[in-house]
Amino acid sequence: MGSYSDLANRPVLTQPIYEAGRPIEVVARDFDLDPASVIKLASNENPLGPSPLGLAAARKALEVCHLYPDGGSTFLREKLAKKWNLAPNNFVIGNGSNEVMILLAQAFLRPGDEVVFGSQAFIVYKLATMLFGATAVEVPMPGFRHDLKAMRAAVTSRTRILFLASPNNPTGGTDEPADILALAESLPEDVLFCLDEAYAEYLEESADLRPLMASGRKVVVSRTFSKAYGLAGLRVGYLMGSPEVCGLLNRVRQPFNVNLPALAAAEAALDDVAFVTRTKEVNAQGLTQLAAGLKALGCEFIEGKANFLAAKIPQADEAFMYLQRAGVIVRPLKGYGMTGWLRLTVGTAAQNERLINELTKLIAR
Ligand SMILES: *Cc1c(COP(=O)(O)O)cnc(C)c1O
Repeated sequence: MGSYSDLANRPVLTQPIYEAGRPIEVVARDFDLDPASVIKLASNENPLGPSPLGLAAARKALEVCHLYPDGGSTFLREKLAKKWNLAPNNFVIGNGSNEVMILLAQAFLRPGDEVVFGSQAFIVYKLATMLFGATAVEVPMPGFRHDLKAMRAAVTSRTRILFLASPNNPTGGTDEPADILALAESLPEDVLFCLDEAYAEYLEESADLRPLMASGRKVVVSRTFSKAYGLAGLRVGYLMGSPEVCGLLNRVRQPFNVNLPALAAAEAALDDVAFVTRTKEVNAQGLTQLAAGLKALGCEFIEGKANFLAAKIPQADEAFMYLQRAGVIVRPLKGYGMTGWLRLTVGTAAQNERLINELTKLIAR
């Protein structure tokens, strides 16, 4: 009798596995720790918790969770349209921005197509590419920074999508808005440019692709409520693009892909300017604190402006285990071809201090 694998779609068999940050409860159980004492600096979540306005709205929405959510995300798209000075049909709401990237792949990729992204780019680009049997073209990143010229040069007649995140995860490097725009403008008209702005709230300035979008260029932008808005567990993100591309993606997505509390929370969180401002302040201070700590330890790290730092830590594998035993969860980057590196999410001042203290003890041994 044939196995399930014999019957499965071919790309499923070679699909890479997404390695997530380890959850607090799991680490607490594995290492016999009190969950309340464990801190997670592994998934670039917001150390201040959820947006208070978002949380209150989600709680209220739970009371009517016997109802389906609004499958058209009407109010969230209207609010986003106001925020971005676009129209509601310029938006697709996803179950996290990960979903909108998978939707793009589902709508546009077939076997033989190529997708261009950096060799240490966010892993979801590779997952989305391979899931639909397309070919990943991973462009080397010297010093773990995007080489936009090399990315442009990697575009062929088979290229369908080019993904770029600024800041990029897991490296934390950022590209200049002018360079991003120049790359977008230089692409052939049958290549979709997807700019992933998951961490754009932390930047002083990000690229504005709306004029290119309006002029008919095939550019889309993805954003998320998972980071600066503190709603990672609710899973909401969105894609901004022309009404035509949004219409196509809306055909592909599930009718109720974003749940009711998530939609309510995202709508409310958009108004939580005070929370995002505080998030940015705490993050900027935390970045300085972590950078100073790493420098004092003699650890190399990649300068960045997002809410995490990739750092080269002696015996990174051992450090990952050691830190967990000490109740601090970080993220190893071996899977990204960055052996010896860990990704450290910026926490509160106390959390950053604890992380640096544990690293200091480890390195002193
Ligand atoms: C965290 C992150 C996202 C956001 O993912 P969600 O699915 O919205 O939680 C997207 N892109 C990058 C580069 C990220 O690091």
